[in-house]
Amino acid sequence: MRDKVAPMKNKVRVEGIVVEIDGDEMTRVMWAMVKELLLFPHLEMRTDYYDLGLPHRDATDDRVTVEAAEAIRRHGVGVKCATITPNADRVREYGLKKAWPSPNATLRGRLDGTVFRVPILVRNVRPAVRNWKRPIHLARHAYGDVYANREIAVPGPGRGELVFTPADGGPPIRETIREFDGPGILQGIHNTDASIRSFARACFTYALENRISVWFSAKDTISKTYDARFRDIFEEEYAHAWKDRFEARGLEYFFTLIDDAVARIVKSEGGMLWACKNYDGDVMSDMLASACGSLAMMTSVLVSPDGPFEYEAAHGTVQKHYYKHLAGEATSTNSMALIFAWTGGLRKRGEMDGTPEVIAFADRLEAAARETVESGIMTGDLLAVADPGPANRRVSTADFIAAVAERL
Ligand code: NAP
Ligand code: MG
Repeated sequence: MRDKVAPMKNKVRVEGIVVEIDGDEMTRVMWAMVKELLLFPHLEMRTDYYDLGLPHRDATDDRVTVEAAEAIRRHGVGVKCATITPNADRVREYGLKKAWPSPNATLRGRLDGTVFRVPILVRNVRPAVRNWKRPIHLARHAYGDVYANREIAVPGPGRGELVFTPADGGPPIRETIREFDGPGILQGIHNTDASIRSFARACFTYALENRISVWFSAKDTISKTYDARFRDIFEEEYAHAWKDRFEARGLEYFFTLIDDAVARIVKSEGGMLWACKNYDGDVMSDMLASACGSLAMMTSVLVSPDGPFEYEAAHGTVQKHYYKHLAGEATSTNSMALIFAWTGGLRKRGEMDGTPEVIAFADRLEAAARETVESGIMTGDLLAVADPGPANRRVSTADFIAAVAERL
């Protein structure tokens, strides 16, 4: 793929290669601006570029997504723009060969990672929950469950079964799910002990690094085999490998039902890692993001147990804003989480390569972005929830990035 070398002097040199994954719609528009105004003027950086924009995924029969995952494995650090997960409307809109699978599901499946999300806090945007004083870090298991399901639209009467056929030729294990007397629906989901264990390890590692406690929640009272396995593996892993180190730092691990966890989180002061199963994490991270001001203030990193990291914004391609942009209207789309995807990737690159100047650049860029918002210059999503201030003003997508560039 394309290699970019910016040839100017006095720039901060990024030693290792960053895998750059381009995407769709409004985030694709902002992606180019962030690179042009915030990154390439200051960095000498080589990127291994993959275009996951929907037209190119379609042209390559989605091979480009698999290639991007392999590249992240090879180079260790990827930064990803938001991408469209096509549905029937998108198939029509883009004239696609088919509804390609979610790129994020493909990447997560291949990297078997855990997604950690943490909101970007700024002084003038307070969380909707008054007692939250510290950020709530959320870990989403990024493998299996409903994201790798098989579904059947049941046409009429018949038996729905769950069947496991052992590889060693032993007798199959069968469970009847339902004797249908009419049309309905069926779904099969799975997970693996290995993935759950690496999820647990990723959570405990992340929490120790960030010096925070771990809360894990599931629905083990209802799902006595499936969710209970998650609970048991977490407990085993904690007792076996982490308990001493956690206690020595005054940290804890505790398990509770997902509904109890939700109630406790709302009453807490924050400052913990909340580990969630795949679906719970998907939903709860959006709730946390908007409770902390805006979907555009939520960062996301996929940590693979084999070492690689992939950074992105938690939000999507901001389709509605993109249509306005195409119609020539001014947009006010927030690029904070996209900027923080890049700084996260650069900081990790700096750690891996032993280049403190790259880490320092990432710190400076984050500070410039935060201070821009704190100075009152912000996009519409934040202006609606920020503390009132005489200097507050709503700026366009491009003007926000330009203001950050100026401050940087
Ligand atoms: P979205 O892009 O996250 O946007 C939903 C709404 O949230 C927007 O309409 C906007 O609200 C607000 N918003 C999100 N990001 C914003 C930003 N940076 N600045 C300002 N406002 C922001 O979700 P969607 O519209 O449901 O999905 C669009 C596409 O994104 C879909 O095709 C989906 O497949 C894809 N998607 C991709 C990812 C990913 O790649 N990680 C994640 C989720 C969705 P207002 O309209 O009220 O201003
Ligand atoms: Mg979600």
